[in-house]
Amino acid sequence: MPVLELKDYENVAGSAVIKEIRELGEKLEGYSVLHINSTKLGGGVAEILHTLAPLMQEAGLLVRWSVLEGNPDFFNATKQFHNGLHGQPVKITGDMMESYLATARKNRQLVAEENDLVIIHDQQPLGLTAFRSESGGRWLWYCHIDPRYAVPAVWYFLAPMASACDVSVFHLPEYARNLPVLQYFMPPAIAPLSDKNRDVSQEEYYSVLKKLGIDPEGPPVILQVSRFDRLKDPVGLIQAFKLVRKNRECRLILAGGSADDDPEGAAVLDDVRLEADNDPDITILALPPDANLAINVLQRRADVVAQKSLREGFGLTATEALWKGKPVVATPTGGLAHQVLDEKTGLSAKTVEETAAQVDRLLADPELGRRLGAKGREHVRLNYILPVYLRNWLKLINLINS
Ligand code: UDP
Repeated sequence: MPVLELKDYENVAGSAVIKEIRELGEKLEGYSVLHINSTKLGGGVAEILHTLAPLMQEAGLLVRWSVLEGNPDFFNATKQFHNGLHGQPVKITGDMMESYLATARKNRQLVAEENDLVIIHDQQPLGLTAFRSESGGRWLWYCHIDPRYAVPAVWYFLAPMASACDVSVFHLPEYARNLPVLQYFMPPAIAPLSDKNRDVSQEEYYSVLKKLGIDPEGPPVILQVSRFDRLKDPVGLIQAFKLVRKNRECRLILAGGSADDDPEGAAVLDDVRLEADNDPDITILALPPDANLAINVLQRRADVVAQKSLREGFGLTATEALWKGKPVVATPTGGLAHQVLDEKTGLSAKTVEETAAQVDRLLADPELGRRLGAKGREHVRLNYILPVYLRNWLKLINLINS
C-alpha cells in the first residue's frame, strides 16, 4: 500500500481536522518522539503505528519507532503478563521477571539518546523505565488493553515501572488505575483508507465473496468477526441466531483466525462447531492473519453485524462495521458501550434473547438499520478514525508540555 499523507485523509476526516493537525503540529515543530513497542508486525499497536508514525512526522514532529528485541523466554513471560493484565489466572515465576528485566537491560541503548517524549506502548518495554535518567525528556505509558481485571501478581510487578513515567494513557476513563501519575484517556482508531476499511470496487467485492464461498445474493446475513475466544461469545450468538431463524430466513457467518496456534482458540472453535451442528445456514470461516480485504468485504456483505462479547477492551470490529454504515447489535461492555449508543448508532443487547430480538428488529426493518448505520458511521468518523487519533495525540503532547 502506498504511504499516505495528511491530505489523503481530507475527504474522510474533513479539512477542519487536518487544519487542526497542522496547527497543533506547528507548535511541536522539531519535537522528538520515540515510540517503543515489541513488534513491527502483527497486532493492533503495530498496525496503527505503521500509519500513525509517518503522519505524526508530516505534522512536524521528529518521529522514531523502535522495537524492543527479546528472546522466546521474554515473550513467554510477557504473554503471561498480558493474560494476567486481562484478568486470567497466571503463574508468574522469578525467572519470568528476571527475563523481563534482562531484556530491558539488553535494550537500554534504545533510550540512550535524548528524546522530548518516549512513548511506551503496552507493557513489554516498561522495563526500560529503569534507564530513564539517561534520556532527559518525558515518558508516557500507553496501555492498549482494559486493565480493570488485572491480577495482583502482574499489576504490582509492572505498576512501579508505569509510575516511573510522567503520564499514563488508557483507552477509556473507566480504565483509570490508581497510579501516582497524570492519567489521560484516548480511544484507539481504525485506518479508514486501509484494505480493511477502504471502499471496495464491485469486482473486488464479488471476487472476494466468491473466494470465500459466500453467496452475494440470498437471505440476509448476520456476521460476527472475532478471534475464537469465549469472551466474544460465539456460542451465545449461534443460539441467538437460531431464535431469529425461527421467524425468518437468514444466515450467520462467524469469521475469525484459524486458531491453529492457540490451544484455547481451538477448543472454542470445537464448541462453536458443536453448537452449529452442521447447520447449512451457519458458515464458520477460518481466516489467515492478513485477511484484511476479506474482512472488509464480509462486513459490507452483512445486513447486521453482531458483537456479542461478554467483555471487550475497545472492540475495533464494531468500529470497522459502523464505519461501513452497518447496523450493529452489541453488548454494552467496555468500548462497545461508547460506540454502539443504543437506538442512536446501533442497538444494545445483553442476553441471547435480547440479541435475537434486536437482530430480528433490524431484519424486519431495513430502514431502521440504514438510519442507525448512517449515524454509526458519522460517530466513528468524528471520534475513531486515524486523523482524529493523530489530532488527539498532538493535543495530548501539547498539553503535557504546557
Ligand atoms: N481480526 C482479524 N482477523 C480475525 C479476527 C479479527 O484481522 O480473524 C481483526 C479485526 O478486524 C480487528 C481486530 O482484529 O481489527 C480485533 O480487534 P478487537 O478490538 O475487535 O478485538 P481483540 O481481538 O483485540 O480482542
